[in-house]
Amino acid sequence: KHDVKKAGRFMLKLSGEAFSGGGGLGVDPDVVHAIAREIAAVVRDGAEIAVVIGGGNFFRGAELQVRGMDRARSDYMGMLGTVMNCLALQDFLEKEGIDSRVQTAITMAQVAEPYIPLRAVRHLEKGRVVIFGAGMGMPYFSTDTTAAQRALEIEAEALLMGKNGVDGVYDSDPKTNPDAVKFDALEYGEVIGRNLKVADATAVTLCRDNALPILVFELLTEGNIARAVKGEKIGTLVSD
Ligand code: UDP
Repeated sequence: KHDVKKAGRFMLKLSGEAFSGGGGLGVDPDVVHAIAREIAAVVRDGAEIAVVIGGGNFFRGAELQVRGMDRARSDYMGMLGTVMNCLALQDFLEKEGIDSRVQTAITMAQVAEPYIPLRAVRHLEKGRVVIFGAGMGMPYFSTDTTAAQRALEIEAEALLMGKNGVDGVYDSDPKTNPDAVKFDALEYGEVIGRNLKVADATAVTLCRDNALPILVFELLTEGNIARAVKGEKIGTLVSD
């Protein structure tokens, strides 16, 4: 068993879309640097931070499938995309003076360690940020599900879901419906029953079955990662 936690251990799920700085393809270094600064600040304050990054700024398997590609192969492309995001974040964390390790579910020894949960925990205890890449390494899964599973395995106290351009969970899409109402808190059952956009159903079910709280918040608002780690009332909290 690992040591007693200090300021807490958290799993931060970052949307790949945010990394592109506005819906395009690839990585915007300014955005990644800004996110790295925020993570560095909470790590300096003693929090243990693990990160899962999506790959929506490169490829989503389901979208390529619609365009005629084989689903499993395009999912692997999606997973490989997440690794580029991981390396970009690692680079800017390093520039902030924060040690980090990338661990991937698909082995690529030249750029990352393989996924070894106990080693990940040791890194966290030493104040290193651990960035998990290549999702679960399995087609038909998502990085949301990866974040939930890794959070459970490293015994994080909450899953912090940083979203791009939305500050929580609404009863309908706030981008298209000006009357959409935001929830401050939700139960897992409501999220699943009403099919609310928190994460995919597999991820939410995994969190519910293991009582892992999920905080959905706006990622790119300055100071929000620190607020989420401190448990301030931002975004939408999903719990029992
Ligand atoms: N993916 C996968 N298995 C996993 C994680 C991800 O097949 O365990 C693929 C899937 O094609 C997905 C893509 O990687 O669409 C990018 O991840 P995701 O869509 O979760 O990224 P986000 O939308 O969070 O940026």
